[in-house]
Amino acid sequence: MFCPRCGSQNSDSAVFCAYCGTRIDGNDRKEQPIIQESVQKPPGYGVAVASLVFGVIGLALIGPIFSILAIIFGCVAKNQSFKGGQATAGIVLGIIALVLGAIVIAILLI
Ligand SMILES: [Zn+2]
Repeated sequence: MFCPRCGSQNSDSAVFCAYCGTRIDGNDRKEQPIIQESVQKPPGYGVAVASLVFGVIGLALIGPIFSILAIIFGCVAKNQSFKGGQATAGIVLGIIALVLGAIVIAILLI
């Protein structure tokens, strides 16, 4: 069962919450536990944010290493079934930075 006060999961036989000490022996079932799903980060979140950061750095520096890292991290996040937009943004930024880098190199070579 879930503690009605702090939302922590306890064993069904528990009388008191192991985390905050609230009585949870089922005498008051009217109170619904407030499960804060937003606190829990979805799988792949950290990798997706890393992808986004590398994408921004790659775009700012026109650095191919950061751009490639952004694409790789973005793909890893997507493989971990990450649903947020950060992974896609990281991949897109990485590709844009790579293309810009290629254009800059092409201009320098001409
Ligand atoms: Zn509790």
